[in-house]
Amino acid sequence: MINVPKGTKDILPQDSYKWQFVENAARETARLFGAAEIRTPTFEHTEVFLRGVGETTDIVNKEMYTFLDKGGRSITLKPEGTAGIARAFVENGLNNSALPAKFFYLTPCFRYERPQAGRLREFHQFGVEFLGSRSADIDAETILLAKTFLDKVGIKNVTLYINSIGCKECRKKYEDALKAYLNENYDSLCALCKDRLNKNPLRILDCKNDECKKITEKAPKILDYICEDCSNHLEKVKKLLDIAGVEYKINPNIVRGLDYYTRTVFEFVSENIGAQGTVCGGGRYDGLISELGGTDTPGIGFAVGIERILLLLENTGVNIENPNKVKVYFAPMGEKESEKAFELVSDLRANGISADFDHMGRGIKAQFKYADKIGAEFVAVIGSNELMGGAVKVKKMADGSETMVKFTEFSEFILKA
Ligand code: ATP
Ligand code: MG
Repeated sequence: MINVPKGTKDILPQDSYKWQFVENAARETARLFGAAEIRTPTFEHTEVFLRGVGETTDIVNKEMYTFLDKGGRSITLKPEGTAGIARAFVENGLNNSALPAKFFYLTPCFRYERPQAGRLREFHQFGVEFLGSRSADIDAETILLAKTFLDKVGIKNVTLYINSIGCKECRKKYEDALKAYLNENYDSLCALCKDRLNKNPLRILDCKNDECKKITEKAPKILDYICEDCSNHLEKVKKLLDIAGVEYKINPNIVRGLDYYTRTVFEFVSENIGAQGTVCGGGRYDGLISELGGTDTPGIGFAVGIERILLLLENTGVNIENPNKVKVYFAPMGEKESEKAFELVSDLRANGISADFDHMGRGIKAQFKYADKIGAEFVAVIGSNELMGGAVKVKKMADGSETMVKFTEFSEFILKA
């Protein structure tokens, strides 16, 4: 037997309706905020991510699926959504379109990680990118969109953490102060953070290692270093979130993994799914578009991990109704009856009603069992009497009630039922 590759999963019909529920909530939330779907390729030239995601990140350093194609080009499966969208924005000259450009996406992502609960090698993200505005209201809107989505799917007990990591200028000052402090504690840092110290010291604030955590607790705080503009920007975001009634906590250790973030960064974190508690992460990335060769265009976005959302819904006992059940099931008792069922089913489907009948030549008991399994709402047994009489008894499975319905009025009856 051949198994799926490590860190990937089949999504079977018994679960796919839950995915559809989450994806529909994503689409609907995006619509409310005026965001339109964008789809970019599953793979890109590797440079898109080297320049877009940043060469010092974990993603680029260890997690990318990179290979040479048959033409000798370096290709990478997208590890996240933003860089490809930024590439598409530049390539298609979308800076000349109506700004801000508001995009959303639903996409598989690929990262070579150690698989565990909520951490896969192929996973899926819902995300948005708003490009073109420097204003703090678009930050607040982005956060509000994420919150609206989480509410819509029924996620509770998540904490919204926000922070500012400043702009290029003020962050430099902070990085120097942070590096000086961390250098004093160099020996106690984990191996990974020792390596990060010169490349991406901010990322150390985000380390899950207990020793590192102890050290970073006493580290200088970025909010003491950001410039007046950055500070005003954060205050405005906070004010707007207050107006929207969104609760948040300021957390100076939220820095996000990617190099391209500036100013506002945020995460929604859950206590209900263990170590992989971050369900949504995002922030402002004012330098990304120009880094990819476009005209200087600010942007902000977030990404939600769909698997983590589903895990969270499961762990908190949120029930998702399966909307894909068959409405009407016919149990025909012979060949002529089966032909009648075929005719009725076709008519129901033409009227937008899901319907099915026996295709296995099963006995009546087995047919009822099957109808139950597929969650049929109505079942009608067609025997020779029904064929002759032109009418059939329809059983409503929920309460067992039965109604005699003429074949010619079947769709009408179901539409009203
Ligand atoms: P983490 O700290 O958990 O590794 P990250 O900072 O790498 O997260 P992002 O790049 O911000 O994550 O991705 C956004 C979201 O995508 C995360 O909040 C998470 O919900 C989800 N995600 C990231 N990596 C994985 C993965 N390997 N498997 C499943 N979901 C993931
Ligand atoms: Mg990661």
